Amino acid sequence: MHLCLFSGAMYNAYMIIVFLICGILVGGVINILADHLPVDRSIVHPYCPACTAPRPVLEWFGIPSVLFKRTECSYCGAGRGLRPIIVELVSGAAAAAAFLFSPDVFTFLSAYLIFSIFLLITVIDLEHRLILHMVTGPSAILMAVMGLLGWIDPDRGVLSTLLGGMAGFGSVYLLYLLGIVFSRAMAKKQGAEVEEVAFGFGDVTLSGVIGLIVGFPGVVVAIFFGIMAAGIFSLGYLVLMMLRRRYNAFMPIPYGPFLILGALFVYLRWIFPGF
Ligand SMILES: [Zn+2]
Repeated sequence: MHLCLFSGAMYNAYMIIVFLICGILVGGVINILADHLPVDRSIVHPYCPACTAPRPVLEWFGIPSVLFKRTECSYCGAGRGLRPIIVELVSGAAAAAAFLFSPDVFTFLSAYLIFSIFLLITVIDLEHRLILHMVTGPSAILMAVMGLLGWIDPDRGVLSTLLGGMAGFGSVYLLYLLGIVFSRAMAKKQGAEVEEVAFGFGDVTLSGVIGLIVGFPGVVVAIFFGIMAAGIFSLGYLVLMMLRRRYNAFMPIPYGPFLILGALFVYLRWIFPGF
């Protein structure tokens, strides 16, 4: 089934606006989840984190709150920053792009769902250095089902999807164990507890999800690319800190966004060759 039921530039322009608005609304939901899942561990009525007053519906979404001049909490005056607007705009643009580039409705649905999951994980990891199992768990089930049904990539077999998930989870689980051994050795050497480990278990479950999305052998490229990107970023950051004489060998960086970058690198190039 083709997404474009009618031809014509007018139809496409109209549909782009429709998908942009739908994407902005989904971005609003992503914002609410990113605000409350790490704190409440469940879906709650949106509230202001500064004073816990429940937010009126007009303040739930970033762009409408700007349009109606309701960017500050009406009880305590706390602002919300730019994140709600950035997430809504990125989500809207992604929905419109997925509509334009997807050859069929299944590719569109899986592409946009994958992007939304990645966006939610990125926002939470950047703000809390945390990847929640309550996000990666259901995502893994969804991606396994969609991957096995051939919605993500009809040319990829069952074996590639399952192997991808196992390889993603397994390889980063090994790195996670190595990280623990390394921090224990460092702690022994320094005579103090080193709390930070390179990879958290959330990175392990995220890599499993990435493997189910890009399959095998794509997952190898995705994880390698992600770790390299994180390494280059850390090196740059370290040099900057040394120049400013604020050196800290255990500077924790969230790995999630880099792993996601690697996954997008493989996914976008393989699924949409024209991208
Ligand atoms: Zn407030």
